[in-house]
Amino acid sequence: MTMFISGETIFPKRSKLYNLEPIGVGTSMVESLTSYLTRLSNAHNVKVKSIIKYEISPLFESLTYPSTGNSTKFYRNGRIIDGRSLLTMEFINALEKLTTRKDLRYLTLISFRGISNYKVVNSYKKWCPQCLNKMKKENGNIYQPLLWNIQYVKICPLHNSFLHTTCPVCNKQQLPLNSKGNLGSCNSCDAWLGATFSKNDKVDKNEFDVWTSNSIAELIKNTPRMVSSPTDKFIWRLIKHFEDFFFDIKIPIDSLLVHLANKCNSRSEIASSLRFDLLFPHKGDPLCILLKLIYIVEASIQVVHDFTSFSPSSSSIINELKCNKQKYQRKQKLIKDFNYIIQNIRPLPTPEEILKLTGDVDNLLIEYFDHFMEQNELERSNNN
Ligand SMILES: [Zn+2]
Ligand SMILES: [Zn+2]
Repeated sequence: MTMFISGETIFPKRSKLYNLEPIGVGTSMVESLTSYLTRLSNAHNVKVKSIIKYEISPLFESLTYPSTGNSTKFYRNGRIIDGRSLLTMEFINALEKLTTRKDLRYLTLISFRGISNYKVVNSYKKWCPQCLNKMKKENGNIYQPLLWNIQYVKICPLHNSFLHTTCPVCNKQQLPLNSKGNLGSCNSCDAWLGATFSKNDKVDKNEFDVWTSNSIAELIKNTPRMVSSPTDKFIWRLIKHFEDFFFDIKIPIDSLLVHLANKCNSRSEIASSLRFDLLFPHKGDPLCILLKLIYIVEASIQVVHDFTSFSPSSSSIINELKCNKQKYQRKQKLIKDFNYIIQNIRPLPTPEEILKLTGDVDNLLIEYFDHFMEQNELERSNNN
């Protein structure tokens, strides 16, 4: 099939690109746009660079692909395509026109542009060797999932093993786009990247890293079903939403973080770094702040799509704070009642009178008085 690009007279008649179906849309293992672009170029038997230069970038509306004649620089910019920038949008629009597909935005993080910055995608690829071997064995359709390219994803949720970052043979890092059109094999020495997979897996996995990888997988899976994209105000709205739940115990998010930071458990470190992030919100990536926040209050990542999915009763930290607050308030009342009685009522009331007077339902104040009387007796006998 051929087509004319409207308004372009300097370019010759060109073929429309294949309507190649992206792999895994609507799953956590959806293909990344750089991977799609590589498979599309391979299907047309041309280099990625040629497709970008002659087919894609002429359709850009406001930007140009940041490249010079230098191939290394050209391929180095590849990571921008999978992210959430204007250039990502230009690639989606151009490729959707060329392939007549409507689902390519799900191969990027464009839906999360309100809550992530340009660093959200790694410069170099990460991969799970076990997943690569599975792809090879199942249908030979090797691709790079979007999930693996996201900075905070360090662990494969399917195999619970660390993602790899260097070639098992030459130890080189891998750019997402390359002149060879390689997927699953090394851009430098062509070695199969699934060759070894036991190297780091003996190392203990951090609970937050495991949670983050699983949560981002969930977020990616749900992207096509999202009603609207979260905006840059999202984090503050979510904090407000969480604080509304803390309202009856009057605990601002900062106090909760201080409380957690002092507990010395797996959440303490995350709590103190989140506290710092919230003091200087423009220094960090909003997505990273969001992940820490959701993890700390023990909500599920689902809360990004639906606030009402957060149930404070299932959050142990909120229950703990509620309980501490009640204990504190009870103690305050005890002291107040005790001082009032000591200063104003003579002779001291009986236990039954104390309960009647204070409306208490426990014996704590009575025990206070018993203790007080004992102390008094003791002092008196000591003085005699
Ligand atoms: Zn895997
Ligand atoms: Zn290599």
